[in-house]
Amino acid sequence: MLTQAPKGTKDRLPDEIYKWSFVESAFRALCARRGFSEIRTPVFEYTELFSRGVGTSTDIVEKQMYSFDDYDGRSLTLRPEGTASVARAFLEHKLYAQPQPSKYAYEIACYRHERPQKGRLREFHQFGAEYFGSADMLADAEVIALAADFFTELGVVAEIDLRINSIGCPACRGGYREALRAFLAPKREALCDSCKNRLDRNPMRILDCKSPVCGELVKGAPRMLDYLCDACGEDFEALGRNLNALGVAFAVDAGIVRGLDYYTKTAFEFVSSRIGAQGTVCGGGRYDHLIEELGGPPMPGVGFGLGIERLLSVMETAGVAIPPPAGADAYIAFLGDAAKVAGLGLLRRLRAADLRVEMDGPAQSLKGQLKRADRLGARYTIVIGEEELREGAFLIKDMISGEQRRVDADCVLDALAAR
Ligand code: ATP
Ligand code: MG
Repeated sequence: MLTQAPKGTKDRLPDEIYKWSFVESAFRALCARRGFSEIRTPVFEYTELFSRGVGTSTDIVEKQMYSFDDYDGRSLTLRPEGTASVARAFLEHKLYAQPQPSKYAYEIACYRHERPQKGRLREFHQFGAEYFGSADMLADAEVIALAADFFTELGVVAEIDLRINSIGCPACRGGYREALRAFLAPKREALCDSCKNRLDRNPMRILDCKSPVCGELVKGAPRMLDYLCDACGEDFEALGRNLNALGVAFAVDAGIVRGLDYYTKTAFEFVSSRIGAQGTVCGGGRYDHLIEELGGPPMPGVGFGLGIERLLSVMETAGVAIPPPAGADAYIAFLGDAAKVAGLGLLRRLRAADLRVEMDGPAQSLKGQLKRADRLGARYTIVIGEEELREGAFLIKDMISGEQRRVDADCVLDALAAR
């Protein structure tokens, strides 16, 4: 037990973590170029934030939250997603009082008590973006383009399909819900247990059910797109136009829903068919009532959450090569205590020139140290033995060609730089 990470969590070791660093830097750089400012919020929040912000009829709040009582008796929850926390910070710091719109991006760990399987963990990671303060479909297109362009940059855009839908607004959704309920009511007994419950509370969630049986039952169901009010219909068309103008390819998919009450209009997913059942790499949508729901002023917003584990899995399946970290520029091998001191002096000089140079102990045989240099991917090994000390000239071995030559002790930096 003591030597096992908790179920549904994973250590990320050096042989893998460089891939994370690679996508993290790429996301940060892209967000900076697009004017999405980084924001960081706590790992835990008061539980009410998520019951309010995510919605009590969602799987997340109903059965997946890691909640616990703090010592003072208040219930806290490890964040299951990012939007609610960012919205909370937006309110707490009165960021809404600044000129709008405003754009934020983040990278977070999320916690959900789910059944661990491929593409589904209990601690997982997301990139996220939120665009507050604009009701214009330009904002939705910008948010979607951020994700799409990120995939393009990483070389996986061909692996991931963008599907968009509109889930309407409070004005048109009520009528649709009733139509959907009427369509599904006769099939009630065949629905999975969760969906029986959803039929009463929030039938749109049934469209999102992972069970294949429910997937069959919703075939032929009424589509929200046929129930949109004029304003929502026009917005959905505008979204399509904006995406075209930004060069983002998409397909309309009436099955995409974000079943939370505050979600409105745009809903989208980026899906890969090549990483198994958990193929949704990124999901997002517009949430025009969230800020108000949390006690703020009327303030539209749109954003996404992008699963980093699933993204990396798409990159791997697609065979995208991520450059592993470079090896050391040089390794200093030494024989004897006097050579060690000379080696440390050289180490200092070479490091001052920003080279990555390694030297470590305890002193082994020369053969052992050359092996060590190989393991560290050192380009050159500099050998300092008694003879080298006496003559004031160190041996530089090219670890690729095997070629060796003696260089005056003071000229090692020049010799390395010359190559
Ligand atoms: P799913 O349909 O796969 O359950 P979701 O609708 O619950 O996803 P969101 O809440 O929209 O997912 O989260 C955004 C993204 O975070 C997902 O598209 C996915 O890439 C990732 N994600 C969600 N849950 C997990 C998890 N348990 N493990 C790994 N990644 C996850
Ligand atoms: Mg889920």
